[in-house]
Amino acid sequence: MTPKNEDFLKYVCQTSPYPMGLEIDTAKGACLYTVDGKEYLDFISGIGVANTGFTHPAVVKAIQHQVEKYLHVMVYGEHVLAPQVDLAKKLISLLPDGLEQVYFTNSGTEANEGALKLAKKFTGRRKLISFEGSFHGDSQGACSVTGREIYRKPFEPLLPGVSFLPFNEIGRFYEIDNTVAAVITEPIQGEGGMRVPDARFLKALRARCDEVGALLIFDEVQTGFGRTGKLFAMEHWNIVPDILTLAKGMGGGMPLGAFVASREMMATLSENPPLSHVTTFGGHPVSCAAGLASLQVILEESLMKKAEVDGGWLRDQLQNLARKQRGIREVRGKGLMMGLELENARLARHLVNGAFARGLILGWTLHTETVIRIMPPLNILHTELKCGLAVIEAVLNSS
Ligand code: PLP
Repeated sequence: MTPKNEDFLKYVCQTSPYPMGLEIDTAKGACLYTVDGKEYLDFISGIGVANTGFTHPAVVKAIQHQVEKYLHVMVYGEHVLAPQVDLAKKLISLLPDGLEQVYFTNSGTEANEGALKLAKKFTGRRKLISFEGSFHGDSQGACSVTGREIYRKPFEPLLPGVSFLPFNEIGRFYEIDNTVAAVITEPIQGEGGMRVPDARFLKALRARCDEVGALLIFDEVQTGFGRTGKLFAMEHWNIVPDILTLAKGMGGGMPLGAFVASREMMATLSENPPLSHVTTFGGHPVSCAAGLASLQVILEESLMKKAEVDGGWLRDQLQNLARKQRGIREVRGKGLMMGLELENARLARHLVNGAFARGLILGWTLHTETVIRIMPPLNILHTELKCGLAVIEAVLNSS
């Protein structure tokens, strides 16, 4: 263990008893390079962030350009900052009608916090509905709507009036009634095990929300920015939420999130009282400059299409592997957001640890220890995908 590694364990708060602990020197494309000269292929994009790869030159250039001009100058929403305005305008031009204004945040958690507060203030209602297996962040509000009890229990009491329904089942939609402010869901559950719902689930959810006047919040923090083969996952079903939340891949590697809604809804945050929801650093100009550059890369390099094609190829390969290799229960997902469900947690651990030893980074999903997450950068080279696949095959073969 290096002195830096020792200091990391001693001085930097840990989130698990078994951190990967790679001492990073540089990161480029789909690869991480450590100070001891090793190369790792990152199949989880650190987690779900590096949609345009690590340290994309266009993103770095935009950051350099912005840092020469100004860093932070004023709390959010006061001055006209070109990087914010340009990114908001571009985003809105790519989103369906009804999603008209952007509120920038620093993270996905804060985007969801803002969305929940907006829903309460706009509707005047208090109840919230979420889904089992969901993940929406770790602040007390976002944690309140995260669908796994072990992550909520230690922090209770959390927000009152939150109920959970089973994901991808419409049988209990009658619980969404006219006292509900909002229903929050990921269009495809990430931490719940890369679960793609049936088309009728989201359609019925939209219809039920409309019927009772509850707002529908789509959390696209993990699914957004080309990850699933569309710029946003909601496009797979042509369903438009009332509020959309974004982060992770949004900032091209910089901290950036947002919630997006109609102008009418957003107006409730600036009146009764004014400054109902503020942030000092949300929409930092350097993050927004990086975000716009990253979005332009996604569009110019057709990374949505690439995610669809590469994801299809990889899914086919893994499904072939599942037919000849014992232990793989299911391969699922959309685009380059994929889950490999293994027979048991022991095998999943064997795969993650074995791949790591061979220079490939895989990971679990937070709520499902038998599901391995595969979500490489969208611009990963085909040779790298093949290389990662070969490692997965070799490790599973050695189980
Ligand atoms: N929502 C979803 C769907 C997520 O996957 C995550 C993070 O994994 C979050 C929200 C929280 O985002 P952040 O870690 O940026 O606060």
